[in-house]
Amino acid sequence: PGTLHVVATPIGNLGDLSPRALDTLRNVAAVCAEDTRHTRQLLSHFGLERPLLALHQHNEDAQAAQLVARLLAGDSLALVSDAGTPLVSDPGFRLVSAARAAGVRVSPVPGACAAIAALSVAGLPSDRFVFEGFLPVKAAARRERLARLASETRTLMFYESAHRIEEALADMAIVLGATRRAVVARELTKLFETVLDGPLSALHLRVATEADQRKGEFVVIVEGAGDDVDAKIVEGQRLYAKLSEYLK
Ligand code: SAM
Repeated sequence: PGTLHVVATPIGNLGDLSPRALDTLRNVAAVCAEDTRHTRQLLSHFGLERPLLALHQHNEDAQAAQLVARLLAGDSLALVSDAGTPLVSDPGFRLVSAARAAGVRVSPVPGACAAIAALSVAGLPSDRFVFEGFLPVKAAARRERLARLASETRTLMFYESAHRIEEALADMAIVLGATRRAVVARELTKLFETVLDGPLSALHLRVATEADQRKGEFVVIVEGAGDDVDAKIVEGQRLYAKLSEYLK
């Protein structure tokens, strides 16, 4: 059988496409891409022209079986997403899992990942961290998700879009605590790369008052709960459990 190569692409700066990624893309029978137009542009920038197959959240289940059949028949394929590492808040999970289940070799060509790039410059504890991807779009669900993370002691990582960065930071300040330290990493590896740090309330204020700070793509890194916060939340939950039992 062929090999499924999972290939990371740049998150902004095209110089971050590795020589091995280029070599792999040049040598596969076809490239499975989240958005074929986007990937065609990337490939043509490097003078490559490969057959492209669309693999996105709406067709991944159906496509996976066909792609695995093709791999089993001997073709090697590459999987890429629009930016960064496939499967990280991007399609690919079903294909990779189906390929592995069929005994096909799946091999990574690692490279850029926005969350890891942000963590590497955040200056917040990085020995243990939790990747939360995108928060829910609706305010109530977002606050509930944050509330469930309030006592997490590991560093938290979130992806956020320009549309919601302001609301997300406001909710984080309210639910996780205004003084909790955080980093907002914007447009990493691009022209307007900005890495802001400070307490959540100050970061929210800055983003709310400066329109430029709401433009582009964002990673938010938040320090984990301290031991005291943890204890307070556990105590709160214990009291709440006792109270609900009493009210039964
Ligand atoms: N697979 C990608 C990766 O490995 O980072 C992530 C894909 S996800 C659909 C896109 C999100 O990643 C954006 O909304 C943003 O939160 C984050 N992101 C991508 N590129 C970024 C950049 N250059 N700077 C900051 N955040 C970025």
